[in-house]
Amino acid sequence: MQNETPSCARCPFKASDRLCQKKDGKAPHFCPTRNLAELAEQSLKEYDKPSISEFAKQSSIQESEGYLNKDLGYENLRASKTRIEETMEFAARMHYKRLGIAFCLGLRNEAKVVEKIFLSRKFEVVSAICKVGRISKERIGVGKEHHIALDRAEEAMCNPILQAMILNTEKTDFNVLLGLCVGHDSLFLKYAEAPCTILAVKDRMLGHNPLAAVYNVNSYYRCLK
Ligand code: SF4
Repeated sequence: MQNETPSCARCPFKASDRLCQKKDGKAPHFCPTRNLAELAEQSLKEYDKPSISEFAKQSSIQESEGYLNKDLGYENLRASKTRIEETMEFAARMHYKRLGIAFCLGLRNEAKVVEKIFLSRKFEVVSAICKVGRISKERIGVGKEHHIALDRAEEAMCNPILQAMILNTEKTDFNVLLGLCVGHDSLFLKYAEAPCTILAVKDRMLGHNPLAAVYNVNSYYRCLK
């Protein structure tokens, strides 16, 4: 069973009936809860590390605090907090003081607002825009034909590695990504030293709400299937 490809996304069972939700639950042949018990044990050792255990515990408490009406039963649960509220609450739970914002030029207005909100909650804020350093795209082998503004002789590349290095140097406790592009976000996450969370992802078409395409996959976005 070890070599079955884990495929939770294809699990055919009702959420509450699944093995990952209850001990005698149902499991398909590709179920990692059933097939990868040893790896699960290995993961627990990581949670025992002091640097991880508090983070994991507070993340879970944050999740739980995101609901109202728990006393009325599962069917009556209501969401109670926005992502930005949760981000600040979690940072406070972890006693983080210094927040980094790694943002995209295209979301500079939003970054201004987010910084103000963080400052109003008494966090220190360090921020770095994607174009920081103004290094030409040619430096990474991107020619003029791949510029965004085709009439510009030179165009600054997005430099998520520098964004991460700046926030690393500033010793941020927690980094918040705001609208970085696909791939640039991956590089930022690879190079950032502090834990990171994502307030918003870039989706130019959908107002940074990529799930709109997923929600409409049986109608306007059927071409995705
Ligand atoms: S862990 Fe197993 S039961 Fe849970 S979703 Fe994945 S395949 Fe289904």
